[in-house]
Amino acid sequence: MVVVGAGECGTRAAFELREAGWTGPITLVGAENVLPYERPPLSKSVLTGPDEACEPTALCESRALRDAGIEFIAGAAVTSIDRDAHRAVLSDGRRIAYQRLLLATGAAARRLPLAGIDAGGVRYLRSRADALVLRDRLRSGARVGVIGAGFIGLELAAAAAARGCAVTVIEAAPRPMSRAVPTSLATAVADRHRQAGVDLRCGLTVERLTRRDGVLLLELAGGEMLECDTVVAGVGAVPETALAEKAGLAVENGVRVDARLATSDPDVFAAGDCCSFPHPLYGGRRIRLEAWRNAQDQGRAAARNMLGDDQPFAAVPWFWSDQFDLTLQIAGLPDTAAQEVVRERPDGVRIRFGLGTDGRLRSAAAIATGNAVAKDIRLAEMLIARRAAPATAALADPATPLKALLRHAPI
Ligand SMILES: Cc1cc2nc3c(=O)[nH]c(=O)nc-3n(C[C@H](O)[C@H](O)[C@H](O)COP(=O)(O)OP(=O)(O)OC[C@H]3O[C@@H](n4cnc5c(N)ncnc54)[C@H](O)[C@@H]3O)c2cc1C
Repeated sequence: MVVVGAGECGTRAAFELREAGWTGPITLVGAENVLPYERPPLSKSVLTGPDEACEPTALCESRALRDAGIEFIAGAAVTSIDRDAHRAVLSDGRRIAYQRLLLATGAAARRLPLAGIDAGGVRYLRSRADALVLRDRLRSGARVGVIGAGFIGLELAAAAAARGCAVTVIEAAPRPMSRAVPTSLATAVADRHRQAGVDLRCGLTVERLTRRDGVLLLELAGGEMLECDTVVAGVGAVPETALAEKAGLAVENGVRVDARLATSDPDVFAAGDCCSFPHPLYGGRRIRLEAWRNAQDQGRAAARNMLGDDQPFAAVPWFWSDQFDLTLQIAGLPDTAAQEVVRERPDGVRIRFGLGTDGRLRSAAAIATGNAVAKDIRLAEMLIARRAAPATAALADPATPLKALLRHAPI
């Protein structure tokens, strides 16, 4: 069994292969020259924590890999896959035979197609190395320009503001996080950023970047020039599909897999940020997720299917984001909802449920300090998984516990 990519997904998959009973060799190949680590802290504690705690959390120690009999090859990329011969070819020339192979190559920060970008200085945030460079630059008083108000851009803006930087966020869309979050939640997040002194400017584009005397100048539409010491682009991520394409595998917004996470080659699977898959809870709609728990769950599911299981992957999508003292949680896919029902809890927290045209629950999203929405979102997730169609009045009524709705939902 060969796993390509030692991120969240690939590492979980490698361990699951062993736990699920595979006794033969397992090789985990990672292009980064470090032990597998968690990416979410890169835009959170790695930027804001004390110096001695600035390393991202390791996914496992070398010893755990050794004990599980996983051969971990770090700092080498798989450059091609010879599917006829069932061999993976590595950047250092090694060839590794496989019976089944998992592509867990993740995603890369989308590059900005911007005039002057080659002047240098624009940073991205995807890897440990990126985060450590940024951490060093987010010094108190530094002028930080963030291009893009998606999750990464906003988490980074919150971290920079917390470190005393003067932060400006430029977003082309009329509101932040326009891809995945209901408008009302996006407004609450925007308000929190402004309260903390972040200059969040939506509906505005960056036209050009220049560098003068060590200062980066962002030229905004309309001609305004914004002086920055550091500019970071958070304009989305693109799936790492080059290897799959080279191997002649089907690619469609990510490596195309079926419900079992198998690619167009039955001996090659793909999972995590790099793949697009049909989701049975959403009428088989093909989606690609960039979410931590999905990467874990799909890694495990793919591992079991690589060993002969035949389980479709049907976990409810779930995502969280931390910005300042707020945590946002989303279960399901808000953009598949036709109707919104809001439940306002006695503590003022609003849970926004999305229902499909058939009345079934499709999504739930909320924002609050700390972990205050976790339990309700977890229950909503279970309702979504059961394809529940709760009465809207009950859903809106905080006196009706979500647990009670679950009791009436089909299993
Ligand atoms: C800064 C940041 C903050 C995030 N915060 C959150 C959050 O708050 N909540 C949330 O739900 N999600 C969050 N995410 C998303 C989450 O981290 C990802 O969904 C998850 O890491 C995806 O795991 P993966 O294993 O599929 O891909 P990745 O983590 O991208 O790992 C893929 C690995 O494969 C390696 N690789 C690629 N090609 C090859 C090759 N040819 N050969 C060998 N190795 C290769 C790459 O170097 C990489 O190490 C965040 C992501 C980032 C970047």
